[in-house]
Amino acid sequence: MNNSGETILARQQWKIRITGILTVLAVPGVFVPDTFASFLGVEPLWVELASALTFIVAFAFAAWLSRCPNCGLNLLFYGMRHEHVGSWLAWSLNVKTCPRCGYSLSGRENSVGNAG
Ligand SMILES: [Zn+2]
Repeated sequence: MNNSGETILARQQWKIRITGILTVLAVPGVFVPDTFASFLGVEPLWVELASALTFIVAFAFAAWLSRCPNCGLNLLFYGMRHEHVGSWLAWSLNVKTCPRCGYSLSGRENSVGNAG
């Protein structure tokens, strides 16, 4: 397994996607809990609490997964601050070299241009 240019978050990417999906799914439960409460037959408060908790835990987990393994820089938050609104997530998932410490999974970013 010698993929050149493997992204830092390549091995976490599916986990981050799952937490992202959970975060998105939790949003309507927070804002329109009554719809889900009547569907599930429970109190709206429980739907609201469960959705808020899911949102927070999923988002925290995604943020935790998105850290640089070397220096701990949060690539998800870094992308939010430094990239455009529409592209920060793609940037975070596709970053190959840590913008702070220069860490990369291949570790051979210096030896480019080797014709062969
Ligand atoms: Zn780093």
